[in-house]
Amino acid sequence: MVKPYIFCDMDGVVVNLLSGVKKTLKKNGITFNPKGVITYNFMGGDYGCDRQMVFQALGMTETFAEAPFYEFKDETLKKFKDKFTVSAYTLVADPEKARIRLGQIQKIGFRGEPQIGAMKFIPPVIGQLCTQTQTFLIEDNPATIKDWLDLTPITQALLVDHPYNQEVPAETPYGNRLKRVKNFQDAMEYLLKNFS
Ligand SMILES: [Mg+2]
Repeated sequence: MVKPYIFCDMDGVVVNLLSGVKKTLKKNGITFNPKGVITYNFMGGDYGCDRQMVFQALGMTETFAEAPFYEFKDETLKKFKDKFTVSAYTLVADPEKARIRLGQIQKIGFRGEPQIGAMKFIPPVIGQLCTQTQTFLIEDNPATIKDWLDLTPITQALLVDHPYNQEVPAETPYGNRLKRVKNFQDAMEYLLKNFS
């Protein structure tokens, strides 16, 4: 039997990019409050510092290199990779950041590699796969999730909870195709329990 396929976002799911931003700014004596990020486009909220500083840090390679993994249990990750085919699904701005992300993808033992620049959501090869195999997306961006659920008939998505993605209501038009989870560990446990 073909294993179900998981596409897993990195930033905001597996890797804590906002923590990377915090570290970069701290080195420059600037305090940043990640919990103040309450919209996905970094427009609303109180960051505890100048918003432009946050944008600058987000553009720096150093920030990507400093971003740590979120906490998860190694034994859950092992089971997760045994039961599912897991591929990273992530976008970065340039080759240097891609190199750093690829290192993290390989470290955690996922398949795939970062896409560079503007990505058309759901490349054709993935779209094809989604019509044939049970496929899941783990993601923190509601817009990406919406695209997946609209464009593919049998996928399901797990939205990893953050202050910046609260606008998605508990009851959505996607019904049980969309589930909100606390974090990556929670996502793995849910998928293992219900689909493996
Ligand atoms: Mg993300």
